[in-house]
Amino acid sequence: MTHPLLGLAPLTAAHFATIERRVAALLATDNDVVIMQGEALLPLEACIRGGARPDSTALNVVTGPYGQTFGNWLRDCGAKVVDLAVPFDTAVTAAQVEQALAAHPETDFVSLVHAEAATGNTNPVAEIGEVVRAHGALLMLDAVASVAAEPLLPDAWGVDLCVIGAQKAMGGPAGVSVVSVSERAWQRFAANPRAPRHSYLSLLDWKERWIDTGRRALPHAPAQLEMLALEAAVERIEEDGLGAVTARHAAASRAARAGARALGGGVVPFVGEDAAAAPVATTIRVPAGVDAAEVVAKALASDASLPLVAGGGALASEMVRVNHYGPDATEDAVRKSLLALGAALAESGVKVCLEAAARAVEETW
Ligand SMILES: *Cc1c(COP(=O)(O)O)cnc(C)c1O
Repeated sequence: MTHPLLGLAPLTAAHFATIERRVAALLATDNDVVIMQGEALLPLEACIRGGARPDSTALNVVTGPYGQTFGNWLRDCGAKVVDLAVPFDTAVTAAQVEQALAAHPETDFVSLVHAEAATGNTNPVAEIGEVVRAHGALLMLDAVASVAAEPLLPDAWGVDLCVIGAQKAMGGPAGVSVVSVSERAWQRFAANPRAPRHSYLSLLDWKERWIDTGRRALPHAPAQLEMLALEAAVERIEEDGLGAVTARHAAASRAARAGARALGGGVVPFVGEDAAAAPVATTIRVPAGVDAAEVVAKALASDASLPLVAGGGALASEMVRVNHYGPDATEDAVRKSLLALGAALAESGVKVCLEAAARAVEETW
């Protein structure tokens, strides 16, 4: 008996290195790229544990739930953490980051999330990167929800550590993830006596055992299926063209936001300003008195394949997410999602206009 997922030849070092190069090209980066063998929280934690130390001061920009997680890791490393939090339905501005750095000139590490799928906002990284670069701090960016959904240029923007995963707009696997590491970041890790070594969290291990030895032998057996799936996801983006893929996500975002507004009845996009809306996913606020989790359950009962989920945690009752990413970044998926949402809201007594929403999606796409 053969099975398509079983009995594959081991992934060679040369093949692994090829996948690395293709991912680096996707990020337009000349920095080293490390493909860590776990979900994106692995490289994110690795970057923080490698870069932060007890004498560090870290500016942690909080625009959603991931920023909160980073703050906890930074504090756990003994760093002094300055949280710059903004309401989750907006974006942080470069001016706010500049002010925070001026108030804490000793800051040597900045953690920032590019786009937040959980809240549907996106931050102006190009401008923020300029400010951080001028200050001299190391910049770590969580770009899991922005890669392939919107422009992402870590080198041009001065990002020292750029973490991506393939499970969102790339339409790929969640089990391996990638970080680009600048020369400055390597030096920082090497100078940090607390940076993980001989550990699953160690980026320095990858540098010493894989990069510096000429990428000839892998330190351990790679997550083969996930690596092949990552390669397939990158290949599909190469074939479609990265610009076309990001354009589809931008169109999905515009259409979903227009559709939500056209539904009426008090339904509004959660993120008010178009410029702050993440192309990866659209978050929608349901009217007071309606439970978002119930509305999503009703909508999914009509079609379980729709990319709809209720908000996480405290947002579960008031927010619906349309995860129009990867293969769901289509006009069809957005229209069906908005119509199913509208029908479920109508069932709950909200006066919505389905025809207007369908028209808005079509005209905006
Ligand atoms: C999705 C996402 C991740 C990865 O989290 P998973 O829930 O495991 O997919 C990390 N950071 C951000 C900002 C994300 O949106």
